[in-house]
Amino acid sequence: MAKIPYKIYLEEKEIPTSWYNVRSAMKNKPAPLLNPGTLKPMKAEELEGVFCKELVAQELDNDTPFFKIPDEILDFYKMYRPSPLMRAYRLEKQLGTPAKIYYKFEGNNTSGSHKLNSAIAQAYYAKKQGLKGVTTETGAGQWGTALAMACAYFDLDCKVYMVKVSYEQKPFRREVMRTYGASVTPSPSTETEVGRKILAEHPGTTGSLGCAISEAVEKAVTNEGYRYVLGSVLNQVLLHQSVIGLETKAALDKVGEKADIIIGCAGGGSNLGGLVSPFMGEKLRGERDYKIIAVEPASCPSLTRGKFAYDFCDTGMVCPLAKMYTLGSGFIPAPNHAGGLRYHGMSSILSQLYHDGYMEAVSYNQTDVFEAAELFARSEGILPAPESSHAIKGAIDEALKCKEAGEEKTIVFGLTGTGYFDMVAYEKFHNGEMSDYIPTDDEIGAYLAKLPKTG
Ligand SMILES: *Cc1c(COP(=O)(O)O)cnc(C)c1O
Repeated sequence: MAKIPYKIYLEEKEIPTSWYNVRSAMKNKPAPLLNPGTLKPMKAEELEGVFCKELVAQELDNDTPFFKIPDEILDFYKMYRPSPLMRAYRLEKQLGTPAKIYYKFEGNNTSGSHKLNSAIAQAYYAKKQGLKGVTTETGAGQWGTALAMACAYFDLDCKVYMVKVSYEQKPFRREVMRTYGASVTPSPSTETEVGRKILAEHPGTTGSLGCAISEAVEKAVTNEGYRYVLGSVLNQVLLHQSVIGLETKAALDKVGEKADIIIGCAGGGSNLGGLVSPFMGEKLRGERDYKIIAVEPASCPSLTRGKFAYDFCDTGMVCPLAKMYTLGSGFIPAPNHAGGLRYHGMSSILSQLYHDGYMEAVSYNQTDVFEAAELFARSEGILPAPESSHAIKGAIDEALKCKEAGEEKTIVFGLTGTGYFDMVAYEKFHNGEMSDYIPTDDEIGAYLAKLPKTG
């Protein structure tokens, strides 16, 4: 058989024309979002005050397997998709493993991550609805950058609340967003009621994603012609990100490969959910088995140490409640945590699948993750984002297990983005100044004790 190329490219016409909704194959559907006031399932009309109408329809649809991708979105996808599926020959050799390692690289666009796949969809539906603009939060900045690009494309106003610690540590990311026309505010800010409240209660706080979400939602619901958009966690975002998994599957089919193990890093769960969706569909229908692994940081271990319960999606407790693996909406990872993936909860879809035993989860210390990142950069050439490097570490560990057992398995992982704006974290690692912090059971327990009582 001919040698499999380093890069498996699909053609432009092979970009998927529909997104795949993995919920359609789930027997136990993800639990509905609850209204934070009444604790009743959110109705479409209620959600439409916060989110765009068509996105609400996607959010609530647990049954339709495929959603056609509108032509305007496909045209944008064509500028940077299909993304390559790479065979990690050099990494395999470095590890001395008989396993075959593939990675789907989503960092080939200016925003530097997979987030553009959903940003463009959300901006499209906002434009179609005739809105003036959208608000959002961003942590490390990839989502804000992706959304700023998407809003520039559709000529929408874009208002980003950026977690204060990142706003200060990543000025270049901020300037990329402003280049695309977005306005960027450090969060918590004094612009919103919830921001002022958080500042009064926690003076000097460096912010969190949950808190920035509260501010962005408030801004959207108090300004006419604006809606809030979110870059992860929601069902609609996993739906848009299924383009990653569909392309991966098509590329593997093209070279006659079958995945055995599929690995992704998990922050809110969107890249992992998107990557695994079509494979998970097969698994749920009993057509084929895959080992699916979520990798998370030991400092923010929602799947491995959180609780499967209803919780607020934001610190300000203004958003709907989602049933998910959570560390509590008040949880903020230790300040020395540099590796992204800092959200307290996890996608309801992935939470349900994990709860039902269709997925595994592991967590790693950040110094081990950066060691894996460096090994990967030196062997494969790509400078990985710290978030993506969790998946790299997971793939390396599985490949080493294959080496021990003498098994030639096929491992596929998601390389979600590049790390050019994360050099402060790399610098800390190189200088030996990076430490690991694992929260104690008591710390996590204290946040979990404050979970809302939903009966
Ligand atoms: C946002 C981000 C993640 C984590 O988000 P998910 O929703 O869990 O996919 C991972 N990698 C990169 C590069 C990101 O920007």
